[in-house]
Amino acid sequence: MNFRDLNLNTPLYNALDDLGFTTPTPIQAEAFSVVASGKDMVGIAQTGTGKTFGYMLPILKHLPFSQQENPRVLVLVPTRELVVQVVDEIEKLSKYINTRVLGVYGGTNINTQKQAIAQGVDILVATPGRLYDLALSRVLQLKSIQKLVIDEVDVMLDLGFRHQLINIFDILPERRQNIMFSATMTKDVEYLIDDFFIAPEKVSIATSEHP
Ligand code: AMP
Repeated sequence: MNFRDLNLNTPLYNALDDLGFTTPTPIQAEAFSVVASGKDMVGIAQTGTGKTFGYMLPILKHLPFSQQENPRVLVLVPTRELVVQVVDEIEKLSKYINTRVLGVYGGTNINTQKQAIAQGVDILVATPGRLYDLALSRVLQLKSIQKLVIDEVDVMLDLGFRHQLINIFDILPERRQNIMFSATMTKDVEYLIDDFFIAPEKVSIATSEHP
């Protein structure tokens, strides 16, 4: 399989060409049509499998240009390091698209982040605690979120973010697509899916643990 088989568009092909990527990884090949369909999805994939582009390729392909200020895509990740990494990946992929990407995380000045949000954002990448604080401050409006991606959800639950996740679900629009990635399917992850996802499609790739 080649990226051309995914029927992307010229700006995405140009970005992939610049990166030197020609072949989708297994999770990218599997997740593309599910994410593009708008259905809820649970992906079992480890870091290093290319899962970030697995959800960002279909999302960027279908995200129309907009001048509205409120973010339309929310990506939640467990750590500040991951926020920085995911923002970096999205920026590379959206190099030729007019998309505003912003990363926010705790442990740094919230006012600087409020100012950045006020400039307008399309894709917001955040750690759960800081995201919730920003939403409570009302600078951040979540009413336009159409797609919620939760990456490394198993790590997030291990770090004790379950309540924060539920608080965030409560203030998101009900009509949205949920996309979740986890390295392993734990009981805690299953409970979360059962409670908040609607008939999710499971996408998993073979790992060395299960030859
Ligand atoms: P991730 O699992 O999303 O953290 O991605 C792991 C690494 O693989 C990142 O450095 C990506 O830039 C890279 N990557 C993503 N997709 C591809 C691809 N199709 N071909 C080669 N490298 C890729």
